[in-house]
Amino acid sequence: MKEFNEVFNDKKELKKNTSENQKFFQKLKKHTPKNLDIIMHDLHDEVFVHTDCLACANCCKTASPIITEKDIERIAKHLRMKEVQFIEKYLFRDTDDFMAFKQTPCPFLDAENYCLIYEYRPKACADYPHTNRRKFIQIADLTVRNAEICPAVFEIVEKLKEKKF
Ligand code: SF4
Ligand code: SF4
Repeated sequence: MKEFNEVFNDKKELKKNTSENQKFFQKLKKHTPKNLDIIMHDLHDEVFVHTDCLACANCCKTASPIITEKDIERIAKHLRMKEVQFIEKYLFRDTDDFMAFKQTPCPFLDAENYCLIYEYRPKACADYPHTNRRKFIQIADLTVRNAEICPAVFEIVEKLKEKKF
């Protein structure tokens, strides 16, 4: 099986792998196995058993989660900031019209890869990388993008491709 770092550190390989993943998921969307969610759930558990997110934090370093109004309310309250101040200091509206962090790495990621607002973090952070969610096929395109930054998603997708549906 391919290794994430070998692909991640080689732009040509990364592009090739992404294109392979896109084709794989296009086919899977047309013929989705009824038990895909169960398969994904098992693969998610199998891979995350040996995944050390604290040694990685690539998601927090390279991509911003979508931030909802509820997230803003909860985090601003925790930081004892007014919501408008929080938005002005940390957020912007992206091209898809979602609120996101202005900067990467995330302003709440510390030097040891801990999240400084862990208990209050955005829901999208808590749910990331979404590989065990229901109706997984609906986030196939997002998963292709996540396989470019998350070693766990990369491995889950590689294992899924080995199943050759
Ligand atoms: S990129 Fe994936 S493996 Fe790395 S910290 Fe995020 S969820 Fe964990
Ligand atoms: S809020 Fe926390 S979990 Fe979310 S991106 Fe920032 S550091 Fe990572």
